Amino acid sequence: MPNWDNELLMENLKIAATYQHWSRREFLKAAGIAGAGSLMAPFSRTANASQLSGEMPLRPFGNTGINVPLLSFGGSLDTSLSILVLRQAFKQGVTYWDTANTYMGGRSEKGIGKYLEKYPRDRQQIFLVTKSHAWTTKGLGEDLDLSLERMRTDYIDLYFLHSVRRPGQLDDDIKSWAEKKKAEGKIRLFGFSTHSNMEECMLGASKLGWIDGIMMRYNYRLMHNDEMRRAVDACTKAGIGLTAMKTQGGGQVKTNSETELKLAGRFVEKGFSDAQAKLMAVWKNSNIASICSEMPNMTILMSNVAAAMDKTRLSSLDRALLQQYARETPSTYCAGCADICESAVAGNIPIGDVMRYLMYARSYDNPYRASTRFRKIPLDIRIQMDKADYSMAERRCPQKMAIGSLMQEALKELS
Ligand code: SF4
Repeated sequence: MPNWDNELLMENLKIAATYQHWSRREFLKAAGIAGAGSLMAPFSRTANASQLSGEMPLRPFGNTGINVPLLSFGGSLDTSLSILVLRQAFKQGVTYWDTANTYMGGRSEKGIGKYLEKYPRDRQQIFLVTKSHAWTTKGLGEDLDLSLERMRTDYIDLYFLHSVRRPGQLDDDIKSWAEKKKAEGKIRLFGFSTHSNMEECMLGASKLGWIDGIMMRYNYRLMHNDEMRRAVDACTKAGIGLTAMKTQGGGQVKTNSETELKLAGRFVEKGFSDAQAKLMAVWKNSNIASICSEMPNMTILMSNVAAAMDKTRLSSLDRALLQQYARETPSTYCAGCADICESAVAGNIPIGDVMRYLMYARSYDNPYRASTRFRKIPLDIRIQMDKADYSMAERRCPQKMAIGSLMQEALKELS
């Protein structure tokens, strides 16, 4: 007779290793806090589709009149290798798909095109988002046409200018271009994504009157900052739909400090993973329409779907613990306030971007994406990066990050 308990336990530990990136020792340490009886609980919500009945909740995307699912599929991967994951996402109601013309050198958009060729009837149920880095209307037009061709579709639901760093980049030329493409039926909505100086960009956009949607870095670390609260409120009042990205706020919760142990143990006891808890913390703000999450495999997809469909929400104590954890570990997370550090260093060194690339390498286990983007920084800037004095930037950094050492580590790890 097989020992089913042990088999299930081993299966759950395997899922833990994949998803949580915990070592087995770390998992057992956290589980021990909750008691051996709950050892199997944390991954019961990741298991399989048959266990997930119910519907994916929807929220209005600003004042656009469109409802979107709480969870969106982050396509910054080679989706041509993930057709089955896309199919499962669709079936689970994850019908908001986000990509960009540059993701994986175009393979992300091409994979979506492959999917839509196979399942053309799904197109009308998918809220499709793509982005362009072009800063000229000519470049935007070319990128849009290429995206349409690659994804085998006639229109994009929401077209983003990619990685806006300041509101001045949203000028009248861009506005006229967006209006023209809407009139042509090539895009339904227009907006931007932002990783740096998000609050300033959002506040600026809220005054423009022609931005439909924004995808910004937003998580349990950033959501309590006054400036971010103001920015979200202003966008909500302006009817702008908001999608949160980078919701994990850096890496997974470890078990090194008392707060971390308390947090991990508490989530184990309640049946959450810390990744699920971080999603739920963001969904607590009803002004956030959706969370864009990269889901490269079924395990992560089904775990996120389970978190979105679960009727249970984090308690105020859970959220307070997450906040306490964020307060105790600021220097492990760059908050994207690039103007603060970059204005304290000579030259045009993109400190905020480099910190993000390090996050891709270290927290997302994606050294390919990290180094591909890092190597796009011009060589002369990388030389300056090596010699620059970061002491003033470190003094000003609200997260107290060791910027100088991290820049050196990036040069070694990502060059
Ligand atoms: S390094 Fe510090 S100041 Fe610079 S963007 Fe990150 S958190 Fe902000």
